[in-house]
Amino acid sequence: MSDACAENGLRSVEAAKQMLIDSINPITETEIIPLSQACGRVLAAPVLSALNLPPCDNSAMDGYALCGESERYTLMGKSLAGHPFAGTLEPGQATRITTGAAVPAGADRVQMQENCTLEGDQLTMSRPAKPGENIRRRGEDVHTGQSLIPVGAKIKVPHIALLAAAGVAEVTVLRKLKAALLSIGDELKPIGTPASELGDGDIYDSNRIALYAALEQLDADILDLGCYPDQPEEIREAFIHARNNADFVITSGGVSVGEADYTKTVLQELGEIDFWKLAIKPGKPFAFGRLPKTNGETLFFGLPGNPVSAIVTLYQLVVPALEKLRGTSEQYRQPPVQLRARLLNGIRKKPGRTDYQRGFTYRDGDGIQVVETRGIQGSHILSGFASANCFVVLPREGGDCETGDWVTVEPFTAPLK
Ligand code: AMP
Ligand code: MG
Repeated sequence: MSDACAENGLRSVEAAKQMLIDSINPITETEIIPLSQACGRVLAAPVLSALNLPPCDNSAMDGYALCGESERYTLMGKSLAGHPFAGTLEPGQATRITTGAAVPAGADRVQMQENCTLEGDQLTMSRPAKPGENIRRRGEDVHTGQSLIPVGAKIKVPHIALLAAAGVAEVTVLRKLKAALLSIGDELKPIGTPASELGDGDIYDSNRIALYAALEQLDADILDLGCYPDQPEEIREAFIHARNNADFVITSGGVSVGEADYTKTVLQELGEIDFWKLAIKPGKPFAFGRLPKTNGETLFFGLPGNPVSAIVTLYQLVVPALEKLRGTSEQYRQPPVQLRARLLNGIRKKPGRTDYQRGFTYRDGDGIQVVETRGIQGSHILSGFASANCFVVLPREGGDCETGDWVTVEPFTAPLK
């Protein structure tokens, strides 16, 4: 733990992320679902192709299937997609062929129709076709018995296309995670409450809705427990309910110094909990723990209450942890792609915490990747966050940056976009 907590007593983002990932065991329960519903789910059992793809040699073009090399060919019939030519071509013979239609027996090349002239049944062409030209070979994409996608893959649209092409109608995936979500704070009011009914200092419970949207994109089933006042008894009830009904609980608010005390007492009573001070800006306080139950345990992630901090810590720490929990293999759990971009404005920064500033990155007229920070960089400033498309990641030990400096940016990916 010594290298995890550097001189200012804060735990680095990287160390925190690694500790979370290392301490989590993926769920193992699976379910069989229709392929059409599998996008975003994690494959749990191998899928082997029952056939070759393409299933037979077929044409890449609309044109003529030819047997051998010849000055002219005699047209014998046609092979259309779904209606193959029944016979066998001899040298000097041809059939009409459409894209995707089976190459007739005996044919060894396809000439595209733009190069052909047909007079009666005699076919000539402006240039000869080479052997094998425009033929898509049986099995050149996938061969029978081949593994289509690896176990642990997060199923994406290209996977669906491949599996469907191989005729796979159902897949075995890891079950969805069950999330419990709640907010803590006396000042919080659920959205839908008329603004006129907000008391002095009250605010809308925005975190829960934003976190709900993010968790939905991670395919979790969400138990939304609502918002709770800073009352240990009520929070205790909520945590017990969450523990009994979910794989993990996400809370926001109530984990900063002072407030954390009773959350801590409640959580320590129910399980093990650790309050971390992270070298991350925004988002210093963070709680992680486990609440044991008869059939396993429920993980606890306590996010800071400040809205930008809550989402940043979710994105940087909790999402990688949840990806591990839902069985996504390491290869499919790569961190977000980072780019280098040239700063369009200066940034003030004190060394000590990794700063995830909210910025907008794009290619300028000269094709150079540039980035400008958006809005005041406060952990409560949502308008700037909402107009951003990336984090500007400023390293922990770094200080101020000047206009024109090259910095690292992380374009938002799911579940932020
Ligand atoms: P806390 O972490 O409870 O100290 O809260 C830090 C800041 O975040 C305070 O300004 C809270 O009002 C605000 N906050 C806490 N929970 C939420 C929430 N669910 N939605 C929006 N803001 C919140
Ligand atoms: Mg609070």
